[in-house]
Amino acid sequence: MKITIVAGARPNFIKIAPIIKAIQKQQQCNENIHYRLIHTGQHYDKNLSDTFFEELNIPKPDANLEVKSGSQAVQTAAIMVAFEKELLDNPTDLVLVVGDVTSTMACSIVAKKSNIKVAHVEAGIRSYDMTMPEEINRLVTDSITDYFFTTTVWASENLRKAGVSEDKIFFVGNVMIDTLLSKRSQFKAPDFWNDFKLESNQYFVLTLHRPANVDNAENLLELLSEITQSANGMPVLFPIHPRTAKVLMESDFKSSNLTIIEPLGYLEFNYLVENARCVITDSGGITEETTVMGIPCMTLRDNTERPETIELGTNELLGTNPKAIRPAMEKLFNNQWKKGTIPEKWDGKAAERIVEHLVTLK
Ligand code: UDP
Repeated sequence: MKITIVAGARPNFIKIAPIIKAIQKQQQCNENIHYRLIHTGQHYDKNLSDTFFEELNIPKPDANLEVKSGSQAVQTAAIMVAFEKELLDNPTDLVLVVGDVTSTMACSIVAKKSNIKVAHVEAGIRSYDMTMPEEINRLVTDSITDYFFTTTVWASENLRKAGVSEDKIFFVGNVMIDTLLSKRSQFKAPDFWNDFKLESNQYFVLTLHRPANVDNAENLLELLSEITQSANGMPVLFPIHPRTAKVLMESDFKSSNLTIIEPLGYLEFNYLVENARCVITDSGGITEETTVMGIPCMTLRDNTERPETIELGTNELLGTNPKAIRPAMEKLFNNQWKKGTIPEKWDGKAAERIVEHLVTLK
């Protein structure tokens, strides 16, 4: 079987790493499984792309479509045109896409229209918020997927409700957590740890990149101001996404306990998370990682496609109103934050389960 694996953006790289490793392991006893890795080039900054290939030992892609940035439509179109050529030049039996980025949706459409089966890893998660580009990507991808690999029972249930037949749904667990568990012993303190005099449990990590939080400068500044003022004077480390940096650069916001840094590599970022008092974020993947590491997490969104991080994990949804931050901080500093448990099958073996299913597909 020939599998074409697609990855385009930072969270994708973290998800494909264990899948490729599991395929390589399978190849040792099964010479009928082959893969080709395609990087669409959706994320191309070194610290959103190359660093992850190096740190997570992902092989060099067989092709890079180099689509780079553009509006949603421009980027989707560029990926589709380039990926159609890729599939014509390199026929395959299955296209495997992960997550919910533009590349996920664009490549699954091209594959399906070329009569190639589509496997979606992290299928079935839903925020039911149609203002999120990711939700549209999830819905479109799942509407044409043939094999659905899910992270939770919630995700499988969403697919059943949408009419997907039981034999196409494989509840395998979470590949992002495969990466976290396999790399946890290699997490390393960033060089600035000593320079900033950071101490375990005595700082916050902040990440923001969703349009609802960052595209409006006034709203972003109000969030930053509430966070820094209610953090009990603790440093707030803010590895800044390029989208957020663009907006913040045009303001003169300053706060003595806010430290803006470049996006970090995986090993340094997760070292910071594992030792933080709390993480404040609007990312989806980070809420899964904090759940597994047992670190309190405040999510600045009105909804989530990952309810397990709230029902079982350490995550709480605060919404996007900056006024919700202070009461949550009080709860944290009064040691009233929930402890959480780890969702079923988030055990580091999801990718192996995926490959076990892939080899049985006709
Ligand atoms: N991450 C990282 N460095 C950073 C910020 C995030 O390595 O400076 C990792 C993080 O550990 C997680 C992933 O990037 O694995 C989340 O990516 P992102 O927030 O862009 O995507 P989302 O999960 O929201 O789709």
